[in-house]
Amino acid sequence: MTRPGSDGSTSVVAEWVEGHADDASPVSGEELVDLREMLERVAADTAAGAEGNGPTGDEPWRVGKARLADLTRCERLARTDRAGADLSPGIVRGVALDHFIAHRLWVGPVTAPAEELTSMAVATADHDLEAFLESFGDDELDEMLAPLAAAAEAWSGLDASWWPRVQTSASLVLADGAVVSAGRVDVELGGPLTGRPSLVVEVKSSTGVRADHAAEAYLYALLVALRDDEAPVAVALWYPGGAVVDFPVAAGTLRAAAARLADGIVTWSELVAGRPPRESPGAWCRWCPDADRCPSVQVDVSSNGPGDDRRAFDDRPGNDGRGRVG
Ligand code: SF4
Repeated sequence: MTRPGSDGSTSVVAEWVEGHADDASPVSGEELVDLREMLERVAADTAAGAEGNGPTGDEPWRVGKARLADLTRCERLARTDRAGADLSPGIVRGVALDHFIAHRLWVGPVTAPAEELTSMAVATADHDLEAFLESFGDDELDEMLAPLAAAAEAWSGLDASWWPRVQTSASLVLADGAVVSAGRVDVELGGPLTGRPSLVVEVKSSTGVRADHAAEAYLYALLVALRDDEAPVAVALWYPGGAVVDFPVAAGTLRAAAARLADGIVTWSELVAGRPPRESPGAWCRWCPDADRCPSVQVDVSSNGPGDDRRAFDDRPGNDGRGRVG
């Protein structure tokens, strides 16, 4: 059952969710066991073969969404340290959108977006965000945040029986903790204990589907499936002002996600062991910390890359969702 949004209509998210209400989990438990065993084997063998460069209990190899994405883009980028990256309007848009969706889910329409985000920054003692917001004029802040608050209305009307949760953890720990693939899911609905099928939504503050978004979505499907021993029936991307982009889950898509993760573990082990990273320029050079010293840097790039949706960096250890590692 869906409830109407504040304008009386059914929201696009509620419509998508209810469209999956009768779906059954598409992947067998045996298949999930096989995937976990394959990943365990790869992680254990790779860690055991690393000799002096192996992971430790304090410093496991972390191969999450961001690192996998970076390894696909540019190995040298994957080896850079982004700790201390500054806030940017793109990152703050992402933070605001997450907060506004949570507000819409549990409180109601976001009527004063600047005040709402500032209150959140104060309540969480996020002084960097506070300072960032203060550096904007009121009109400028309204211009940035009002469309996001309006877009969050797409999350109205969800039936409470789906138990919506935000920023949930879905992590896979392999080889006795030597390898970790940590994920933070923007929104989860249904799943074990709810009596509803499991659904996963990634919120994107950028616009338009990129080629690597499907890989991100299916990694989360894999992490949630192995966490719950039950595969989601679908993962989706949602963009402010857009439709829900549905990625149906099947055994083949989870196998592909597991194979990509296994490849990432092996590649990361090679780089940690000292293999020189390959340089692969692209749109991502725009925010690469090595851009001022990399001979392969490409500054005049087309828009085929990740734009300023730098929340792709959001699953580093202790990361606060803004490309910084705490
Ligand atoms: S500048 Fe571009 S090519 Fe060079 S390391 Fe950074 S992302 Fe890779």
